[in-house]
Amino acid sequence: MIVDFHMHLFPDAIAPKALAGLARTCGMVPRGAGTVADTLDILDRCGVDAGVIEHIATRPGQTESVNKFAQQIQSDRLICMGSVYPTDPGAAQWVGRIREMGLHGLKLHPDYQDYRADDRAAYPVYEQAQALGLPIVFHAGYDPLSPKLIHTTPAMLRRITSDFPRLQVVAAHMGGMECRLEALETLCGIPNLYFDTALCAEGFMAPALLQEMIARHGYERVLLGSDCPWHLPENEMRLIDSLPIPTSQKEAILGDNAARLLGLDA
Ligand SMILES: [Zn+2]
Repeated sequence: MIVDFHMHLFPDAIAPKALAGLARTCGMVPRGAGTVADTLDILDRCGVDAGVIEHIATRPGQTESVNKFAQQIQSDRLICMGSVYPTDPGAAQWVGRIREMGLHGLKLHPDYQDYRADDRAAYPVYEQAQALGLPIVFHAGYDPLSPKLIHTTPAMLRRITSDFPRLQVVAAHMGGMECRLEALETLCGIPNLYFDTALCAEGFMAPALLQEMIARHGYERVLLGSDCPWHLPENEMRLIDSLPIPTSQKEAILGDNAARLLGLDA
C-alpha cells in the first residue's frame, strides 16, 4: 500500500485563488490544480493508493467550514485531517467533534495560525488529542509566510512530545524546513514522533542526510509525504526509492507505517 501522508486541496470554487496566493507567498509553481478531482487523478498517475489531506484553519471562524469540507470529501482514497485554531478558547472542544466527524487527526501550521508550537495556550488542544488518540501533524521549520521567525522548531517539537508522551506527533518536512541538522540532533529517536518527507525531493534535502535520519530515527516512523500540489508524490517516491536501504524499509516508509498510524487495512 502506498500512502502520501502530506497533501493539500481546496473546495473547487476557491482552489485557483488559494493556490495563486500561496504560490506568490512561497515562490513555487503548483504542479496540480489543488482540487478533489485533480488530486485523485494525481494519486492514479503516481500509483498512490491514498492521500492524507491536510486542512488548516487559519482563523477561529474557519474551523467549522474547514472541518465540514474535510468530512464531505473524505473517502477511502482521501483521508482527511481536521484542524482547529489552537489558541482559540473553543479549540479544545473542537478536537472531540473532529473525532466524531470521522477525521483522522489534526493538522496545525503555527505560522499561519500565529502562535509558537509550544505556546501553553495550545496545550489543551494537545491534551485532548492525546486523550482521544488523534495524531497531530505540525508544519515544521522555516515557512516563507514568516521567514524571520520559525514558529515550530525541533526544540519545540521535542518539548511537546515529552509533555504529551502518548500523543503521536508528525513533524512534517523531516522535522523542519531548513533546520534539518537541528532536527537530526534533537528529534531522532523520540518514540512518539514521526517524520514525513514532504518537500524533501528535488534538492530540498540531501539524500545522504535523509538516509542518516532514517537510520537514526528508525524507518518505522518515517512517512512518505509530498506536499502536493507543490510537489507530486512521484517526486518523493523516487527519492525514497533511490536510497540504498532494504526494500522492506522502503515499503514501510511508502505506506505501511502510515497505514499503521492511521489504523487502515494495509
Ligand atoms: Zn504542506
